[in-house]
Amino acid sequence: MKQVVKVFKFGGSSLKDADAIKNVANILQNHKEKHLAIVVSAMGKTTNALEKVVEAHAAGTGQAFSILNDIKAQHYSIIDGLFGKDDEVYAAVNDTFVEVEWTLEEEPHENYDYMYDQIVSVGELVSSKIVSAYLNKVGLPVQWLDARDIILTDDIFREGWVQWEETLERSAKIAQPMLEKGGFILTQGFIGSTSENFTTTLGREGSDYTAAIFSYCLDAEDMTIWKDVPGVLTADPRLFENVVKLDRLSYKEAIEMTYYGAKVIHPKTIKPLQNKNIPLYVKSFIEPEGEGTLVSSEVEDNYPPMVAVEPDQCLLQISTRDFSFVAEHHISYMFKLIADLRIQVNMMQNSAISFSICINDIDDKADRFAELLKDKFKVMLDRGLEMITVRHYQQDVLDNLRRGKIVLLEERIKDTTAQMVVKDVPVMRRKLVPGKK
Ligand code: ADP
Ligand code: ASP
Ligand code: MG
Repeated sequence: MKQVVKVFKFGGSSLKDADAIKNVANILQNHKEKHLAIVVSAMGKTTNALEKVVEAHAAGTGQAFSILNDIKAQHYSIIDGLFGKDDEVYAAVNDTFVEVEWTLEEEPHENYDYMYDQIVSVGELVSSKIVSAYLNKVGLPVQWLDARDIILTDDIFREGWVQWEETLERSAKIAQPMLEKGGFILTQGFIGSTSENFTTTLGREGSDYTAAIFSYCLDAEDMTIWKDVPGVLTADPRLFENVVKLDRLSYKEAIEMTYYGAKVIHPKTIKPLQNKNIPLYVKSFIEPEGEGTLVSSEVEDNYPPMVAVEPDQCLLQISTRDFSFVAEHHISYMFKLIADLRIQVNMMQNSAISFSICINDIDDKADRFAELLKDKFKVMLDRGLEMITVRHYQQDVLDNLRRGKIVLLEERIKDTTAQMVVKDVPVMRRKLVPGKK
C-alpha cells in the first residue's frame, strides 16, 4: 500500500555547522513515526565557495585547489563536531571530494556550465552524506538516496529542466519502495542528471524546487521548508523593518511574490505543489514549534502590502536603427532570442521606436542577448538596478520605496501590483564654498 509521505527540506543555513545539524536531528526526532523524504542543500555558503573553485579553475589562477581545501576543512571540522575520530563518514566524504580533485587536475572543460555542474554538485553530495550518517548515528534510520537516480533533466547545464514522465517513473520504481521499507529517505536538493548520466543543477537556490519535485512524485501529504525566518514575511527582514508574518498565503500570491524576488521560496517550487494541491509549510528551524506560513489553494482576500526586491537587474533599451516602428517581426525576433537563451523577462514596455526589457543580470545572458541584437538594433544597457514589486500596494508604501531612487520603468497591474525598476540617486558633490557655483 502507498504510504502517506511528508517531504521536509533543510537549506544551507539550517546546516551551517555541527550545532545546526544537531538541531535538525532534534526536529526530526519529533517526526520519527512518519514516512519522510528529506531534501538537504549544501552546508552554509558552500555553493558560493564552490562557484569560486570553478571560476579559478576556468581562469587558470592556480587558486582552485586552495579554495577547495578550505571547503574540505570546513566540512571536516563539522564532521569533527558530530562524529568520533575514526568514523567511516570521513572516507565517504573524502571519496566525494576526490572526484572534484580529479576534475581540477584536468584542463578546464570547454563547456563552462558542464564543468560548473560537475564541481558545484559536490556541495549537496557531501552534505547529504554527513547528515544521513549523523541521523543514523542518533537513532533515526535513514536511507541515502542519490537524487540523480530520480530527477532526469534535459542537458542544459546549470538550469536543467525536469523531464517529468521519466522522473515520475523512476520515483515510483526507486524512491517509493525505499519509503515503504520504513524510516526516512534523505536526498540532495539542487541536482539531477541527464539521460547520459551527467550531473546537472536546477538553478541557484533550487533545493526548494527539488523538494517540490519529490512531493509531486510521491503524492506527498504536505511539504515543509525549514528556514531561518518564522515564515513568509511581508518583506525580506534583511532589507526592511516592521515586517509581519503571513499566516496563510494562496499559491497564486506565493508564485507572484517569489517570481519577482521574494527569496524565501524558490519560484519554481509552487507549480508542482499547486498541480497536486499539496500544502506547503514554511517554518522556522530556530522555533520549530511556531505555526509558520501555510501556502495552499485557499484564497485569502485581505493581504497587507508585500514587497519583493530583486537586485542585479539590467535594463536593455532596444531601438530600431532607422527610426522605423518596433513592429511585430522585431518583437518576434527578440522573443526567439529570449527563449533560446532562457532569459526571464521581469518587466517590459514598448514605445513606437523602442522596446525596454528588464532582466536578471546574474550571468552572461544580458551581454549575449545584447550582442545578438546588435546587428539589427541599437542597444543600451543600464546595469546595477533593482526591481521592486509591491503586491496589494498602498500609495504611502510606494512613496516610501521611491525615496532616494530614480525610477526608470514603472507599471501597475490593476490595483494589486505595482512594479518599478530603480537606481540610487547619485550622491551629489558637496559645495566647497556655500552659495558659489
Ligand atoms: P535556505 O537556508 O533554504 O537557503 P534562504 O536563505 O534561501 O534559505 O531563504 C531564507 C531567507 O529569505 C531569509 O533569511 C530572508 O532574509 C529571505 N527572505 C526574502 N524575502 C523574504 C520574505 N518575504 N519572507 C521571509 N524571508 C524572506
Ligand atoms: N546549494 C544550492 C545553492 O546554494 C541550492 C540551494 O541551496 O537551494 O544555490
Ligand atoms: Mg538558499
